[in-house]
Amino acid sequence: MTTTNRSITEALAAVRDAAERARAGTLDPQATREALLDAAALITLLDLRAFPLDGDDTREQVVVTVHGVDVSVRGRSRDLFVHVEDIRDDRDQQTLPLSVEVNNAGEMTYGQGWDTAPLCEGCWDLPAVDLTLMRCASCLGRRRRS
Ligand SMILES: [Zn+2]
Repeated sequence: MTTTNRSITEALAAVRDAAERARAGTLDPQATREALLDAAALITLLDLRAFPLDGDDTREQVVVTVHGVDVSVRGRSRDLFVHVEDIRDDRDQQTLPLSVEVNNAGEMTYGQGWDTAPLCEGCWDLPAVDLTLMRCASCLGRRRRS
């Protein structure tokens, strides 16, 4: 089975297993070839790429694409900069928004880059986090108390 026929979870497990067998000296030449091809296919599947230091960067920029979302991380002198960009095709406007949580600080929901997040239909001020009820977190909290 090649990586392209596997789930990402299965492909990662296969590459890790091959690496473990290689460390133990039990990976035969044919399995080595397959493991290298699996690793290359996995890198392609995730579109894993890295860029050398640029400007005042302190760590290389590493970018991975998962489920149509680019996640980029690079080190700067004052912080670690994380950039998330939705690259899913949404000509039919059916793509679900992105919900992002950083350091357990709560989720924020974002719409597509060319669109704005749907607004709460309770206050028409904040992005709706519950897309069934079309309410923001604040209005959901009020609703639960009453
Ligand atoms: Zn609201």
